[in-house]
Amino acid sequence: MTNRAIELALSKDSLDKTDIVAILSATDRQDLHAIRDRASEVLKQYCGDEVYFRGLVEFSNECVNNCIYCGIRLGNPNVQRYLLSEDDIVASALWCADKGYGSVVLQSGERHDRQFVELVERSVRRIKNESRSERLPSGLGITLCVGEQKREDYERFFAAGAHRYLLRIESSSPELYARIHPANQKWDDRLACLRWLREIGFQVGTGVMIGLPTQTLQHLADDILFFREIDVDMIGMGPYIPHNETPLAADHAEYGWQTEDAYRTALLMIAAARIALKDINIAATTALQALRPLGREEGLNFGANVVMPQLTPMDVRRNYLLYEGKPCLDESAEQCLDCLETRIRSIGRRVGCDAWGDSRHALARGARADTTARS
Ligand code: SAM
Repeated sequence: MTNRAIELALSKDSLDKTDIVAILSATDRQDLHAIRDRASEVLKQYCGDEVYFRGLVEFSNECVNNCIYCGIRLGNPNVQRYLLSEDDIVASALWCADKGYGSVVLQSGERHDRQFVELVERSVRRIKNESRSERLPSGLGITLCVGEQKREDYERFFAAGAHRYLLRIESSSPELYARIHPANQKWDDRLACLRWLREIGFQVGTGVMIGLPTQTLQHLADDILFFREIDVDMIGMGPYIPHNETPLAADHAEYGWQTEDAYRTALLMIAAARIALKDINIAATTALQALRPLGREEGLNFGANVVMPQLTPMDVRRNYLLYEGKPCLDESAEQCLDCLETRIRSIGRRVGCDAWGDSRHALARGARADTTARS
């Protein structure tokens, strides 16, 4: 017998906070299976069974911020800093196009100086132009994840050809956000950035970390309601994993979540987001795989439909350590891809090739999209 509150939540079309908390509280095996099955059903109905790849290029770990959870924070003197050249960024993206992934994600630490903004803009423009082919007439889909920037710089990135942007709110609670960021990083500023991105025309993704010290299931249920309220097109969220050279690691050691709770709740957050928001894209993030070897596949089984295989060149990859235990540090992009494709087929899903793989939610809104995709 499944828990009555969970059963009730799974029977509804629109979830309220009580339903979401019930789903996130599940620990019993039978309840977890019922939630997973419902999330898969909603996924199949609203998105189909394709899994889209976004080749992930972590092109720089230089960062002006001091997020207290993040391994590449400005204040960590042990990080060997790097910045890939424009040619290397473009080459990694073109490799991705060649392999049939229709999209790439360019991610980095946060910088606001002109040199950085121009590098991003030029790289986007070149990737767009150089990736156009018969297979990809609109070129690669480009997602940016380079933090908070000025509105006019977001406009430049969009004009250059990027059409999706990921900026995690980290927590929809301004109080919790303030606990994990220094005072100069403001929740309101982040929200303003998310609004600008949408106004400019980006497909907007956001997300949170799951299992932060002092975070509760109520906070997490509010996060799902927040995603729905701001009408996101995509979500990337995963467990918080401590990094020893950060201030938050001490809090985690003292009163943080158990790993298995953070992992299970991260899967349940994916399921709850799928059931509540239906036709958006949800990523099974690397952080899930950092906690369990099959974490990404489990994320897909709980309702995710996007994965982001590593394309970051091997020689710099271990310098982009946000948390401990990052997987795939020693696998080439080629090995990463082979292994992922096999894993996806093993769980009965299909890889969406040569397409941007935009969320149906964004398409229904009329966002800039890959109109020439075949699938
Ligand atoms: N600078 C950009 C930004 O802030 O959006 C992109 C890079 S940032 C490192 C990417 C994401 O990594 C953050 O949004 C955060 O949620 C995640 N992250 C950082 N440290 C983490 C940790 N210790 N555990 C899990 N996720 C972490």
